Amino acid sequence: MASPLLSDVADAIIFIAIALIVSLMVLYIIMIAFATRRQEKVVPPKLLTEIRCLSGDYEEVREFSEGEYVGKEVGKCPKCGSKLVVAAIFKEKTSQQSTT
Ligand SMILES: [Zn+2]
Repeated sequence: MASPLLSDVADAIIFIAIALIVSLMVLYIIMIAFATRRQEKVVPPKLLTEIRCLSGDYEEVREFSEGEYVGKEVGKCPKCGSKLVVAAIFKEKTSQQSTT
């Protein structure tokens, strides 16, 4: 007796459930799109450290490592044996200049 009404209710529930799932999927896709866009933008420029021999006959640019500061002694010159110190710390330019 009550079967047509029941099927109507069931149809409505299924419709609502499908609508909910679809809208959740759309939301999910939008969130992923935004997240990947953000990740692309937030690529920080590399920090580089310039190292120089105190005698001035040797210099080297390499990736910055934590704890380095300008004036810090980082080793000995491979040419003359004098102290090697950090001469500068700077951000890598995003142009193609930095390829040695
Ligand atoms: Zn030197």
